[in-house]
Amino acid sequence: MKKTEIQLIRNATLKLNYGGKTILVDPMLSPKHSFMSFVEQGKDLNPTVDMPMSISEVVGNVDAVFLTHAHPDHFDPAAMKALPRGIRMFAQVSDEATLNDTHFTNVSLVDERAQYDNITITRIVGKHGPDALFEVLGVVSGYILEAEGYPTIYIVGDCLWDNNIEQAIEKYNPGIIVTNSGGALFMGENRILMDVEETVKVAQKAPGAKVIAVHVEAIDHCKVSRNELKAVSEKEGLNIIAPEDGEVVSF
Ligand SMILES: [Zn+2]
Repeated sequence: MKKTEIQLIRNATLKLNYGGKTILVDPMLSPKHSFMSFVEQGKDLNPTVDMPMSISEVVGNVDAVFLTHAHPDHFDPAAMKALPRGIRMFAQVSDEATLNDTHFTNVSLVDERAQYDNITITRIVGKHGPDALFEVLGVVSGYILEAEGYPTIYIVGDCLWDNNIEQAIEKYNPGIIVTNSGGALFMGENRILMDVEETVKVAQKAPGAKVIAVHVEAIDHCKVSRNELKAVSEKEGLNIIAPEDGEVVSF
């Protein structure tokens, strides 16, 4: 297998070295405390931490951007400003209108599958929250990335554990799975991200895979900590990694 690197920038923002490309996933590049809290009305408390590096370091050598969905903690005005207009971008079909409102000129909308040179992208549709919140939260996606000679990566996105996720793991047998594990609560009530328990389900379903748990400790409605994820991984003998912001995980 050829070398693959996944760097957590912050929240769900990742930088991948994969298939000979540098891919930026879900860029949220705003400084600490620059947009609204999801817990306390009228206060700018998000993100709760700064990025561990400058914006130019994040976007400098990027070949393409992958968006799982266009919520502001995944694609924000700072990212729109920092990225070149013509950068190659892949996004879910349902975000077409949102992307049409931006200045980006090289967007590929992924329905079932897309090809980026040697990298095959397969979209896995997910549920961001309970059915009652569908109108508010909209469609979200995960992506399976496959390239000859490289481990298969499943970027799950802001999707709760369900049959679709389980079947995708069975079908594609990913060696690396990135979960958004912050356990976020919508208006203090319904959970809209995987939590510790669901991250454990992913790891148990894919015992041969490394699970990289992100989307923690950066947005104020995310309740799960890295320490909880590390503790459960150790206790249950699982392969869950909870990288720090800026940390690179190599394969
Ligand atoms: Zn999110």
